[in-house]
Amino acid sequence: MSEHDPTIFDAILAGDIPCHRVYEDDHVLAFLDINPLSRGHVLVIPKERARFMHELSEESAAALGRVLPKLCKAVMAATGCEHYNLLQNNGAPAHQAVFHVHVHIIPKFEDDSGLCIEWDSGSLEDSEHLTQAIREAIT
Ligand code: 5GP
Repeated sequence: MSEHDPTIFDAILAGDIPCHRVYEDDHVLAFLDINPLSRGHVLVIPKERARFMHELSEESAAALGRVLPKLCKAVMAATGCEHYNLLQNNGAPAHQAVFHVHVHIIPKFEDDSGLCIEWDSGSLEDSEHLTQAIREAIT
């Protein structure tokens, strides 16, 4: 399947395949992940079809950002988790499997269930040039 094909999330949005909907408004749908990393793993998706975050309209991005805090609070209240990760993958090498923008809300529990990350950090190099390059690339 190519990055440009319709995805399973189109079928979910259309109601053609079922999901456990926890939230919906004009721009956003949130539902339980079918293969959760932990109890309460939720996916939050824009209704706009966009593969990657950088392709999403400002309106949909704003709508996503607006609902995330209250959805995180609801997941915390429902599961009792005190900690959680937000994960948003873009591109197959970055572990994206479904090419429709989505934000994972993944509770992290005492038993360590949730997202496991190996954080292989480096040191900051070329910072002046890099800062300038990014600043100039913002459109
Ligand atoms: P990605 O790796 O693209 O960031 O994550 C895609 C997520 O979508 C995975 O966590 C996977 O379990 C979830 N997913 C894939 N297909 C379905 C489906 O049909 N229903 C639901 N609820 N989740 C799905």
